[in-house]
Amino acid sequence: MNTNSKESLKAYSYPELKNLVQELKIPQFRAKQLYEWLYLHHVSSFDEMTNLPKPLRETLKSEFTLSNSTIINVQISQDGTRKYLIKLDDENLIETVGIPSRNGQRLTVCFSTQVGCLMKCSFCATGKEGFTRNLLPGEICDQILLVQEDFNKRVTNIVGMGQGEPFLNYGNVIKALEILNDPQVIGIGARHIAISTCGLIPQINLFSQVNEQYILAVSLHSAIQTTRDNLMPKVKQYSLDALKRALSSYIDTTGRRVTLEYAMMKDINDDEDHLEALIEFCKDLLCHINLIPLNIIPDSDYQPSTSQTLSYWTKTLNNAHIETTVRHSKGSDIAAACGQLKNTLSIN
Ligand code: SAH
Repeated sequence: MNTNSKESLKAYSYPELKNLVQELKIPQFRAKQLYEWLYLHHVSSFDEMTNLPKPLRETLKSEFTLSNSTIINVQISQDGTRKYLIKLDDENLIETVGIPSRNGQRLTVCFSTQVGCLMKCSFCATGKEGFTRNLLPGEICDQILLVQEDFNKRVTNIVGMGQGEPFLNYGNVIKALEILNDPQVIGIGARHIAISTCGLIPQINLFSQVNEQYILAVSLHSAIQTTRDNLMPKVKQYSLDALKRALSSYIDTTGRRVTLEYAMMKDINDDEDHLEALIEFCKDLLCHINLIPLNIIPDSDYQPSTSQTLSYWTKTLNNAHIETTVRHSKGSDIAAACGQLKNTLSIN
């Protein structure tokens, strides 16, 4: 059913819901009730909002939609990771990943922020699908709630590393983080919330003004300009020098360190020159490096670096006092790992 003609309540932040309630001339406390129905009880119809008077429910129903998302397929990896294919209200599809770890003490959700992606990084499957639209704040939050319900367990950590470039949907992503972080509803601690960007400088500057302990991750993938331009053609306009300046100022402003993601690709970005360039880039930068062995994607010649190269890089970087860890992506057997999300309905 296409309900696009109506406005979606999932577009609203909590402060905006309060304004809406005021405009509709209904008592202020209704805003909190509405907010709780959406993000604490996670209902999928206005009729379930039983503490709202019936006439109000009818008014809301005639003017707004709830943009419900539904899980239409789940693939479960040998390591327990679950990849969800989620259908949005307008039939568009996105993917979300639930990653249990630490003997079930942790449940991390990797969420999408857009349908498709504009960035077209050459090693990533998502960009090959093209771009359709931005997700609403509530469509972002719903992914976390759906995973929570499927695992029947509280989500402890979230990472904005699914489909899309979060900073090209900046406003909605920030609104979603506020709801996800809000102890009145979902309550995920800010230090357990990470957002990954391909390095959009104006938005990094804006993010430095957000007064929460969110973690900023930046996809670097090469500290040599020509290599990075080839791998990530759409961020060419922001040079590595400018990126480093933006990160330094982010760190100065927030006091928080940044994570640099580096997908290791054999003979592309893993030789001695690239290693030296990375060490130079990290000089005087409060950062942590995540080396990710490249996940293989269809129709691509890129191969992951060898495990020897990964160990050598980890050792050399740590010796240079640059904290480095290797992130072995989970769920690669079901194409749920970094860069593999592209809305396929394959049943394993
Ligand atoms: N657009 C954002 C977030 C989405 S991707 C960004 O660029 O940061 C999350 C991470 O996975 C990014 O670091 C991305 O570069 C990386 N990635 C993409 N394709 C990959 C692949 N095939 N193997 C390993 N990492 C990949």
